[in-house]
Parts: sequence; structure tokens; C-alpha cells
Amino acid sequence: MVMAKGNWDYSGEPKLRILSLGAGVQSSTMALMANEGAFGPLPDYAIFADTGWEPKKVYEHLDWLKGQLKYPVLICKNHLKSGSIKQDMIDEVKKEKGFLHIPFFARNTKTNKIGIGPRQCTRNYKITPINRRIRHLVGLKDRQRFPRDIWVEVWVGISTDEAMRMKPSREKWVKNIWPLIDKKMSRQACLDWYEGKNYRRPAKSSCVGCPYHDNTLWNEIKVDTPEEFEEACQLDDMIRDSARNPDIKRYLHRKGVPLRSIDFEELLKKKKKPEDQLDLFNNECEGMCGV
Ligand code: SF4
Repeated sequence: MVMAKGNWDYSGEPKLRILSLGAGVQSSTMALMANEGAFGPLPDYAIFADTGWEPKKVYEHLDWLKGQLKYPVLICKNHLKSGSIKQDMIDEVKKEKGFLHIPFFARNTKTNKIGIGPRQCTRNYKITPINRRIRHLVGLKDRQRFPRDIWVEVWVGISTDEAMRMKPSREKWVKNIWPLIDKKMSRQACLDWYEGKNYRRPAKSSCVGCPYHDNTLWNEIKVDTPEEFEEACQLDDMIRDSARNPDIKRYLHRKGVPLRSIDFEELLKKKKKPEDQLDLFNNECEGMCGV
């Protein structure tokens, strides 16, 4: 599926085909299917934008994937920061009270209302580093104008159940395509695709302390990797009074309570409506996180 944009000329062949690799379920499936030729030509590169705070099992899966794919996997980071989104948040909290990049939940202690803060992390840690790497791959410097006769195809791993996340790139020289949508594959269809294959199954990919986690994922982190859960709890403790307004308390969990105080198993037992487990990625991200 193609979204035409502006009057950029997308005729002919793209200069590069780039597979955006999050190393989660959808993008791993897309990468392995591409490797088998399911989408025609192979991508020239897969690019993994590393926030530096993915779960250990995602990094292990990425290493395994690199060994499977016939095309190179490149890793890029936000080159202006420390290399770890967690460390950057710690530095920001220590430096000054104010803007943080992760969309924390905020409770106003006067009104008791809970809202969610702005999200800049996907752009700063994923989209911009990937675009910068692509510019370098086509031989351009950071601020050099992109030649109008060149365009790059970027394969984004969104499945049919997350189709609302399909967005054209803000860069006119990038034409996003969604190969899993074209194959009418849901996330479950991606998981089913592994049946009978000798492939390692991917896990959900997202930053360890991402506020978009649902309770099932928080519980998994707490039970399976308590050391990673503790890292998230420490950041959660640290951000509490980081807003300029002293009436605002920040949290990683949507309930607006300290993460370490939550009994997730109890919450999951009480779950009545599916929207309690609404995955915020569906509304907020651009196919770069959680896939
Ligand atoms: S996974 Fe969450 S915290 Fe990490 S970059 Fe994406 S939205 Fe931000």
C-alpha cells in the first residue's frame, strides 16, 4: 500500500529499501518473511533504532535475527544523548525540572485528575536516528538537501490490528510502506506464521519503563525480569516531583500510583472490560515502538 505525498517523484526504483526493525513480533516477522522473498526484492538494510533500554530478551533476539538475515542489520542511536533513554531521563531530572521526553502520566494532587504528558521519545530515539542513518547511507551530510530525484522506501511493521498507526513519513523523500498490511496479517497471524518453523519467537519490543505498557506486560516484566522491573521502579520514584508545578506528580503507570506498589496479578484478576488493557501504542506511536 502506498501513500502519495506532496509532489515528490516516487516513480522508478527507490534508492534504498530500508526495513525498520524494532525486533518485536511484527517487525521480526516482516524481516524473516522478507528474507524468504515474501515481499519481492530484499531490503538493502534493516535498521534497529536502539533506545538503550530495551529488555535483555529483545537484544538477545536481535542478535539471533542478525545471524538469520541475508541483508545487513544496522544499529543507530540518538547521537546527541547518552545512548540510553533511561540515563537521559535521569540526567534530565537531576539537571532541571521541566520537559521530559517520555509520555509520563501526571496526577494533579489538587484535582486528582490524571493526564498523560507529551511524547517526543519515538521521534528523538527512533525516527530521527533512522532518518539520519538513511541520509548517511545515500551519501548525504546531516543538513544537506535531499536530491529530488531520489527517494527511499521504508518498510514499517504494522499489522492489521494496529492499522490506525499507519502514517506517512514527515520526510518527503521517505515513502513508508506496510508489507504486513498488504498481506492482511494481524499480530496473531504473525505469531501463527512461526508454527512449524525453526525460528526463535520474538517478544514485545519497547523500552523497559515505557508508560504505554499494559498491565499484562508490566506483570510479565515484574515476574520474568525483576531486575528490569526494579530499574523501571527506580525511574518511577525519581520522576515523581520532576514537574515545574509542585501540584503535579509524575508516574510511569496510568493509574497514577507508584509502580512498585501495584499488585498486577490482582488487577488482572479484576479486569472486566477489554479497554482496561487498551494498548496505548495503538493510538500514539508511528509503527516504530512495540513492533
Ligand atoms: S517504547 Fe515507549 S518510551 Fe520507548 S521510545 Fe517508544 S513510546 Fe517512548
